[in-house]
Amino acid sequence: MLEDRSNYTLEDMDRMSVFHPLTSIETHMKQGPMIIEQSKGVRLRDHKGRELIDCGAGLWCVNIGYGRPEIAQAAQQAFENLNYYHIFGGASNEPMIRLADKVLTLFRERSGAPQMARVFFGTSGSDANDTNAKLVRYYNNLRGKPEKKKIISRTGAYHGLTTMAAALTGIDIYHKAWDLDGSGVLHTSCPHFFRFGLPGETEEQFTDRLIGEIEAMIAREGAETIAAFIAEPIMGTGGALLPPKGYFEKLQPILEKNDILFIADEVITGFGRTGDWFATGLYGLKPDIVTLAKGITSAYFPVSASVISQKIWDVLEAASPEYGPVMHGFTYSGHPVGGAVGLANLKIMEEENLPANAAKVGSYLREQLKARFGDHPYIGDIRGQGLMVALEFVADKAKKTFFKAGQNPHRVVAGYAPDNGIMIRGLPFTETLAFSPPLSITEGDLDQAMDALAKSLEQAMPELRKLAAE
Ligand code: PMP
Repeated sequence: MLEDRSNYTLEDMDRMSVFHPLTSIETHMKQGPMIIEQSKGVRLRDHKGRELIDCGAGLWCVNIGYGRPEIAQAAQQAFENLNYYHIFGGASNEPMIRLADKVLTLFRERSGAPQMARVFFGTSGSDANDTNAKLVRYYNNLRGKPEKKKIISRTGAYHGLTTMAAALTGIDIYHKAWDLDGSGVLHTSCPHFFRFGLPGETEEQFTDRLIGEIEAMIAREGAETIAAFIAEPIMGTGGALLPPKGYFEKLQPILEKNDILFIADEVITGFGRTGDWFATGLYGLKPDIVTLAKGITSAYFPVSASVISQKIWDVLEAASPEYGPVMHGFTYSGHPVGGAVGLANLKIMEEENLPANAAKVGSYLREQLKARFGDHPYIGDIRGQGLMVALEFVADKAKKTFFKAGQNPHRVVAGYAPDNGIMIRGLPFTETLAFSPPLSITEGDLDQAMDALAKSLEQAMPELRKLAAE
């Protein structure tokens, strides 16, 4: 006899059945889930009937906003026509061919990166970065440089949570107790001037110090052992961290000189979030590999991509007769429904010029945040680019001291937010709240979201004062 489960609420069933990612089991068992029932535009509705402006666009990913019928129609058509076939062994399908072509065209025509030559599809940012980590080693083996294998990443980086991607991720809490095999992964300093600039140091001096550290690391390890440098052009999970002045301009020639591939992880920055199509164009980057996910389908379907340059492709192609098939790929690589959804999503982005809207309303958001919260005693920095925006908390503004690890003032504020009508996420690296709504958001919605944030900050003040005094 099967157990009668009809008396259980959905919340009970969740607690008894679901193993949630990135969730405290202790808290979840006490509080239960927040069940999201519906979404439309920039708004969600949860099981308590609260209507919430989603200041996170999910996980920085629903770039066109929720509930677009065009995507549902494109998906339905694709499901009816060809719901699945793989792309191994030269098999292919039209939607994925067109999506690959579209992505390359965007790099060529909108981002000053004509060197991008082929697209390898996966289903998550993590698997794409694992693909990249394999590819840079494969590439060096094929061209007779088997010792050139290490990858330099940065403290504060987020590159995903599969084993290799998690090792590349540079935030301690993702490593604790997981025994990741990060062999060959090196981390250099986080380029977050506000937090890690030394007293009296200018931004340029900070950049030079970090670049010097990278040069010293390359010299110490030996350039002949280093395959790649991976970087989010603007660090997302780290806290919407813009590169300090001159960082990439100074970094790229060093990588080139040392024959080190540059992997730009544009999982968040890609597809309009920064106000440009890609941060590659925004910063004039010359990547050898670009990681894409999230905005490629606005998360209506899981698709990721590793876009590789002609230089890498040439080596793979030349080695093909000797090495045989490229023995890497996934069941869902190049899924036809993902291709159709991606194309429909990019069509909306182009027709509605969403990158330009992100630039425009993003400027408005930062201005308004600065005007409204710039003098807040516990908000030390308000920064961002396009709709990748963050507020960082300080314990003492005048002395520029920070809250202690584990105090999480930003999470206290985020905890009040849903009752005030917004979802806003606290980030795990520094005490930072992220503002990364759908790119379709209006100034009016942002005003409403900022009102809700103001209320949440107000409600959190007694706790913030207490924490700051501890
Ligand atoms: N790279 C970056 C820059 C990311 O922000 C993320 C996800 N937040 C990932 C990789 C991993 O993507 P996924 O969660 O799809 O595996």
